[in-house]
Amino acid sequence: MLISVEGDQYEALRVFCIGRNYAAHIEELKSERLEAPTMFSKPPTSLVPPGTDIRMPVHGNDLQHEAEVVVLIGKEGAPKDQEEATGFIRALSLGLDMTLRDVQRVQKEKGLPWEIAKSFDQSAPIGTFSPYNDTFDLGNIPFSCHVNGELRQQGNTGDMIFPIPAQVLGVSRIWRLLPGDLIYTGTPAGVGSLKPGDTISVESELMGPFSWNIR
Ligand code: MG
Repeated sequence: MLISVEGDQYEALRVFCIGRNYAAHIEELKSERLEAPTMFSKPPTSLVPPGTDIRMPVHGNDLQHEAEVVVLIGKEGAPKDQEEATGFIRALSLGLDMTLRDVQRVQKEKGLPWEIAKSFDQSAPIGTFSPYNDTFDLGNIPFSCHVNGELRQQGNTGDMIFPIPAQVLGVSRIWRLLPGDLIYTGTPAGVGSLKPGDTISVESELMGPFSWNIR
């Protein structure tokens, strides 16, 4: 997917996702809190722009939404600390880390990788991007997720266990950053199931709303 920010074009080839980053969400899934953020990735073909229909996957039954703030990396390199890492952030958006929860449960129990539960086609709906500048406080971005107009998730990046600059730095230590990299920064509590006919939207004061229909 090609992402445009103030006339600059970025090819999104790598989609990194941070897991277990909000205490209340860890609790609702009865997961263990980790000392470092858990990370996984999705193929670029998982990205879905707003307004696109999302098909129910056929290899699982419980498709769940995880509303997340998403960071677009604007340059190549490996920052040395969190302050430098912040300078790699080009733009922000909101997206959904779609998860087949029933499949993930089985994979977790068996100690197997999460790809089939997390990284299937259309598993990464993504909004349009707003340039990162002084209008954003990375540590205080409130955002929400509605399904058919009903509030499902309400979060704030201020509640993250690993704040956004720490995530950018953490990812860069494993994968040298490239322009176009995306980081899904974790979901707050309130994840829930979706069914055909549902309309899901994510929004914040400065971004969205971005919507998708499930069919
Ligand atoms: Mg997630």
